[in-house]
Amino acid sequence: MYAHIHTSLSLLRGEAQDVPEIEWMLKTMAPFARHIEPEHRLKGAALGVLEALRSGTTCFGEVGSDMAPLAERVFAPSGVRARLASTINEIGPGSRPDPHKPYIFFPDIGERKLKQSIEFVERWDGAADGRITCMLAPHAADMMSKELLLRVKEEAEERGLLMHMHVAQGGREAIQMRLRYGTTTVRFLDEIGFLDDGLLAAHCHQASDEEVALLAARGVRYVSCPSSIGIIDGITPPLALYLASGGRSAALGSDQASGNNCHNMLMEMKVAALLNKTRHRNPTVLPAWKTLRIATIEGATAIGLGDQIGSLEPGKKADLIILNLKAPHMTPIISRPVKNIAPNIVYSARGDEVEAAIIDGKVVMKEGRVLTMDEEQVIAEAQRAAEIITSRAAEEFMAAGSLLTEAVKKGLL
Ligand SMILES: [Zn+2]
Repeated sequence: MYAHIHTSLSLLRGEAQDVPEIEWMLKTMAPFARHIEPEHRLKGAALGVLEALRSGTTCFGEVGSDMAPLAERVFAPSGVRARLASTINEIGPGSRPDPHKPYIFFPDIGERKLKQSIEFVERWDGAADGRITCMLAPHAADMMSKELLLRVKEEAEERGLLMHMHVAQGGREAIQMRLRYGTTTVRFLDEIGFLDDGLLAAHCHQASDEEVALLAARGVRYVSCPSSIGIIDGITPPLALYLASGGRSAALGSDQASGNNCHNMLMEMKVAALLNKTRHRNPTVLPAWKTLRIATIEGATAIGLGDQIGSLEPGKKADLIILNLKAPHMTPIISRPVKNIAPNIVYSARGDEVEAAIIDGKVVMKEGRVLTMDEEQVIAEAQRAAEIITSRAAEEFMAAGSLLTEAVKKGLL
């Protein structure tokens, strides 16, 4: 299960990477993102869901702007389970002219997005026989006022919803928090009483070791996206540290294709284990069995669904995948003296072993084919939409002048 994912950005796969973090959002993502139309988001989301489902993901913690069309046209009909949230922020056109000056907030935008988020929850929480559930998603502490953050928390508590937020997500945010409040994101959130087990915090790679311990001590739930943050920031986010600090609710996410480049949990687990082992120079960190648990039952618990999914037990929903283990890279499978199935799944599987997926008791993938989506059509439409976006954005992208544009000019990309 992917607890933090933006499938709707899948059309930007491979278009914004290998640049300094400060350039990533504003100089490489933004020129394309400006040309993503509502219909393109749907094509991207369908592509992301198809990709993730084929490689074993049955549950999606999708966050993004205006989630209703995605719920209606992608998540509900594809048969997957999803915990969705529309992002709330006060960012509008012209909000971020200079990353070294405070962003300009538009309170009317914040009001509209909060209202839209609540309407979304009222319409979709528990929909599709309970497959679709909702959270509230304050975007990030640097993208909205303190007042709006606290209002969202109040709404979440009143409605018994979890909040899903990007927290301490890198240098851009750190600069903003210092400029606006003279402190760090985690310290600021703690001061305003925001840190508790109602919060699912994504990323946290900018947090100091002490701040990670604080998040764990406050009971904050944590979703780590090691591939994405490794590629965007060159940092291993603190998953093992959070667990070692007593953190009880951890999950994995893929974030987005313009970072991670893919939505493939069977590869993500290996990256998570490997990066955390090397970060701590300790091979005992994140053993395979633990990583597999984080990708399944512990991840489900982190997003508040642990009593329904994440393990096969009487009374739980039937969400499961079936892997074909008869492949050279998955052989041998042995059970004595030690079961090697968890290490083989975490360290060897690559996604194409997934033969079938059952979600909410219904077969959504069989013999390697997704039954609920027209795979060829999803891929063809995504390709077409991406070509439209990139052709419209080409000039702006080159004019933005990033490390990527230099590589393009040299003929390297
Ligand atoms: Zn994100």
